[in-house]
Amino acid sequence: MTTQHHPVDHELVRAAAHVAGTHCRGENHTMAAAARARDGRIVTAVNAYHFTGGPCAELVVIGAAAAQGAHELETIVAVGDRDRGVVPPCGRCRQVLLDYFPTLRVIVGSGDGIRAVPVSDLLPEGYVWADHRLDAG
Ligand SMILES: [Zn+2]
Repeated sequence: MTTQHHPVDHELVRAAAHVAGTHCRGENHTMAAAARARDGRIVTAVNAYHFTGGPCAELVVIGAAAAQGAHELETIVAVGDRDRGVVPPCGRCRQVLLDYFPTLRVIVGSGDGIRAVPVSDLLPEGYVWADHRLDAG
C-alpha cells in the first residue's frame, strides 16, 4: 500500500453533498456520488436501492458518466443522506472501480482526515479482472 495522497477535490465533495441533501429521499435513494471526468466535468448520481442488489451510487455514476460521453473518470466520492458525510465505497464498488479506472482516486475519510487515495490502496492484493480475461497478455 502506498502513502500517496492527492489534493482533495472539494468541489466534487460539495456536488455529491448537494445531491445527497437535495435528491436523496426515502429508502430507495440514500447515497449520492460525484465523479470528476478527465475533461473536468462533474457527473452526479444516486443509488437505486433494491433488495435484489440495486446499484450503489458509485456504479450509477459510472453509467451516468458513460451516457454523457465521459468514459474516463479521475476522482470519485460518495456522500450519504442525513448529513452522514463522505462514505467509503463498499467492497463490490472498490472492485468495479479498480477494474474500470485503475488510476482513479477515491475521496475517503471525514473532517481533517478527508483525503484522496488511489483506488488500488482500497483493495490491497486485489484481483485485477483484466489480468484474467482470456485475451489477457
Ligand atoms: Zn458499493
